[in-house]
Amino acid sequence: MFRALIIDKKDDEQVVELTELEESALPEKSVTVKVSYSTLNYKDALAITGSGPIVRNFPLVPGVDLAGTVVRSTYDEFKAGDEVVLNGWGVGESHWGGLAEMASVEGEWLVPLPPGFTARQAMAIGTAGYTAMLCVLQLERHGIQPSSGPVVVTGASGGVGSVAVSILSKLGYEVAAVTGRPSEEPYLKALGASEIIDRASLEEKGRPLAKERWAGAVDTVGSQILANICAEMKYNGVVTACGLAAGFDLPVTVMPFILRGVALQGVDSVYAPREQRLQAWTRLAQDFDAQKLESIVTEIGLSEVIDTAPKFMEGSVRGRVIVDVSR
Ligand code: NDP
Repeated sequence: MFRALIIDKKDDEQVVELTELEESALPEKSVTVKVSYSTLNYKDALAITGSGPIVRNFPLVPGVDLAGTVVRSTYDEFKAGDEVVLNGWGVGESHWGGLAEMASVEGEWLVPLPPGFTARQAMAIGTAGYTAMLCVLQLERHGIQPSSGPVVVTGASGGVGSVAVSILSKLGYEVAAVTGRPSEEPYLKALGASEIIDRASLEEKGRPLAKERWAGAVDTVGSQILANICAEMKYNGVVTACGLAAGFDLPVTVMPFILRGVALQGVDSVYAPREQRLQAWTRLAQDFDAQKLESIVTEIGLSEVIDTAPKFMEGSVRGRVIVDVSR
């Protein structure tokens, strides 16, 4: 038997419970993993609270991330005892995910536990941190360097935002952090932000083009804030957009793109090709200050997940939440 969080539908109502399952209940996939840590991301919270259409099949074990040890494998690249990490691939959405003591997944969805990380550290980074690195890689691909000018990060106290601030500052960028929580200023400054911007100053509709401020942006919130950031980009600036914490609309004009050559680059972590994942994890080992990990992490047990998920919807979670599935 193993413990698992299960999301199901009863009489058209979503029900979430922590339950015990037989191993035979696991889906038939090529690799069975004993999970040690999973995480809670914004998307997991949407799934668990039923606030967004994340879950595609019921019943489903949520959890877009997992780290653990292979128990059985029919996939050539992995054998029993190997330590592995999984981020995305529809796990926790269409396929059973990581918020359980056991998982059965396809071998091609897994990457080896990145050298230099423990399973706990890899989950402290998790999908949020790996996405932050995908954003940084996209800024670099478009030619942005520390000498290009300051980079702004929105939703800065959240999971993606916290890791993005930390990586960019370690790489030598001047980083501005947009937050709705001024009380998090000391936290964000400790991660490397040099300027704190009140989120409220970006929430109202602004001019199509505003004063040029940013060479790069990592946006985790979308909507009016992303539109105003686009209007504040410097000539040939690059905006990476990965999130929708403020909304999925984008009330922007074409002016920043056609008059300043601004690039708007979307970032998806779920189906990012394997080479990009391996590159992102290699760079995380190099460019993320592991000593800062503890300051961004809150650890909970599997039994605390249902009560913690609504806090993401309130926007009151700081940094990353990791889940020790054994308790
Ligand atoms: P978190 O909840 O940890 O962080 C989101 C942050 O956004 C909050 O901490 C808050 O930061 C800010 N925020 C919350 N509500 C609002 C609001 N109404 N208006 C403006 N800002 C708000 O989430 P994650 O970091 O895990 O994820 C961030 C976003 O990125 C989510 O939309 C998520 O779905 C998306 N995402 C996308 C991925 C992809 O592959 N494209 C992968 C991972 C995440 P503060 O208080 O500092 O303002």
